[in-house]
Amino acid sequence: MSTCANRTIKMSVDNVKLINALKNKRNAEGLSLRKLATQIGVSFSTLARIERGDGEPDNNSLLRILDWLGIHGEQAGLKFENVALVHFRAAKNVTSLTTKFLLETAHILKKQYFSDVECDQISNAGDNEAQGPALALSKPEMEEMSQKLRSDLGLKKKEVLNALGLRIRGVDVFVPRDVDDLGKGCLKHLTGKGADEWSAMSVPLNLGEDKWAVVRNDCHSLERQRVTYLEECWHILLGHKLTKVAKIGNAYGRTYESSEEHDAFYLAAATLLPEQAVREAVEDGKSAEEIGQNFGTSPDLVEYRIKRMGLWRVYKSISIEISES
Ligand SMILES: [Zn+2]
Repeated sequence: MSTCANRTIKMSVDNVKLINALKNKRNAEGLSLRKLATQIGVSFSTLARIERGDGEPDNNSLLRILDWLGIHGEQAGLKFENVALVHFRAAKNVTSLTTKFLLETAHILKKQYFSDVECDQISNAGDNEAQGPALALSKPEMEEMSQKLRSDLGLKKKEVLNALGLRIRGVDVFVPRDVDDLGKGCLKHLTGKGADEWSAMSVPLNLGEDKWAVVRNDCHSLERQRVTYLEECWHILLGHKLTKVAKIGNAYGRTYESSEEHDAFYLAAATLLPEQAVREAVEDGKSAEEIGQNFGTSPDLVEYRIKRMGLWRVYKSISIEISES
């Protein structure tokens, strides 16, 4: 059900061109290796190693360097216009035209925020290698977290959450037609022919990844938008970082670790469908359709929730017995 693209691939780049472009721009700007490392969020030792030509850069460092090089990278013959530091939620069969337009949208959003983003880049850039591997959260932890979020929002135990009304400080939410300066063709495709191929996109607006623009696809049903949007919100609230590079269509985008995808989806479902309410409804013999209608979710999401809560047997009234033979 969670369709965030997850295929990890190794990006390749002409290393000699990269090293030259890196050295040239760094020297032109009078930046020490250490200073640049802090600015772009790559560790000093990694950056020094890359500039020495000692082995291929990892995807994460490469993307950050290319992001920083910008036009200088292109001038040096590094062709990477298809790379973006964004999180897509897209269908597996997403076409390259749709990814191209999504990247264009992300690019426009980044540009619009650039002036207030610039100074943050320096203060927020951290050493991304210090994060360690992603550890999945346990179910009790996630049940507690979703309940805490609901109670912090002032919701009663079984109250329906208006998910699309949720706002997080530092996160601006758009639908395609709200993005200023989006080309007509781009808007038309993302809300027309390509509308089925993507559901949301999160664009970090600084390297610290605490300022975001989230674009959600309002062509989809409200039920679907609610869970998609909440999942994006949970990624941000959990401080997930876009560390993996994935090929989506013919473009490269950033994604989260797959354990983080599972956590964010579970939390989104748990926030929309509170534990106690689902348990009682199942025990009362309510159907997934009825429960979904009540909470504004699809029956599929209710069934996912019922299964993960271990209530499937009760829900289906599967009869069991011990044979006397
Ligand atoms: Zn996700």
